[in-house]
Amino acid sequence: MDSNRKYQFSWELLGDLELGRPNLGNHTRLEVYRLMQFTFRDVIEHKFGTEVADTVFYEAGKLAGSAFYQHVMGQVNDLHDFVRQLQRTLREMGIGILRVEKADAERGEFVLTVSEDLDCSGLPELGHGVCTYDEGFIAALMESFSGQKFEVKEVDCWCTGDRTCRFTAHTLD
Ligand SMILES: [Zn+2]
Repeated sequence: MDSNRKYQFSWELLGDLELGRPNLGNHTRLEVYRLMQFTFRDVIEHKFGTEVADTVFYEAGKLAGSAFYQHVMGQVNDLHDFVRQLQRTLREMGIGILRVEKADAERGEFVLTVSEDLDCSGLPELGHGVCTYDEGFIAALMESFSGQKFEVKEVDCWCTGDRTCRFTAHTLD
């Protein structure tokens, strides 16, 4: 732990919810999650600009993805296992419905879709995607699984008028 840091992330910061929320449990309304995400993004952009806001969201998504892989995903042996596990956990946790449209492991090229996405499904059309956090999240999951660096880009989003979020992922070498 870096002693100069006040807010370094650890999985323990998610807390003991059985102890802490005996009546309310581990659920909240999705609006509350979105309220936090979109107000954070507003303030970061206002203070530091759009590029920094995007970088912060992508990097935070990566931090989340690698912690998620470590603490939630469990043992996976091959790509098929990885996809099936990920589909199951994303669905069980109410994050989204994952499909793999293209998987070329040899060339390191993938196309994934996430429907009913936690971050954007049902938002107004904005003319640009908003799932920067998801991009980082998916990149870290793929990196954790494969040991290779990935770049992930959202190419379709609810906010661009599509009914699913579509992400391209490719290895960086
Ligand atoms: Zn989206």
